[in-house]
Amino acid sequence: MKCLICRQTEMVNGFTSVTLERAEIRLTIKNVPAYICPNCADACVDEDVAMWLLSNAEWMVETGARSGVLGDLEFIRTVEND
Ligand SMILES: [Zn+2]
Repeated sequence: MKCLICRQTEMVNGFTSVTLERAEIRLTIKNVPAYICPNCADACVDEDVAMWLLSNAEWMVETGARSGVLGDLEFIRTVEND
C-alpha cells in the first residue's frame, strides 16, 4: 500500500500512538499496530484495529485508571481541567 499523503513510498508495518477524545476525556493509546510511511512518517491504522480501539476505549475510560495495559497496548487517560 502506497502512502496516501506523500504517495512516494510503500508503507511498512509498525506501531503508532492513537489519541481518542470524548468530551473532556482524552485517551492516548500506544503501541497500536499500523502502517507507517518511511518517507513522511504518516501512520495509517487498519479499520479493524480502529474499530477494536473504539470498542475498548469505553472500557479503558470506565476502569477509572489513569493508565494501564491491554494486551500489547498501553493506554494513558488524561482529563482536562483536572
Ligand atoms: Zn508518506
